[in-house]
Amino acid sequence: MGGMMLMIVGLAGIVFDWGTFGRVLAIIFGAIGMVSMLVSMGVYFWAGMLSTSATVIECPECGKQTKMLGKTDRCMFCKTILTLDPNLESNAAPTSNS
Ligand SMILES: [Zn+2]
Repeated sequence: MGGMMLMIVGLAGIVFDWGTFGRVLAIIFGAIGMVSMLVSMGVYFWAGMLSTSATVIECPECGKQTKMLGKTDRCMFCKTILTLDPNLESNAAPTSNS
């Protein structure tokens, strides 16, 4: 968001034509804005990559493959609460070893 603001300020420098100073200012602000935009985009992309690399597990209820974000999530087919925590797992989905 800060990058966008800086870009707008830089564009305003071009639009209002503040002479050489304004142009230099526009270039500087534009460059800073571009860099911060790229950085925030990179962070956004990285976050997206992290979310796609979520654990894929087989749902104990419906047997379908579902993605899990974080420690606890719900099955996207039957909405069963799934967890990686063994203590919680024994409560949510009791293992049938009979
Ligand atoms: Zn399920």
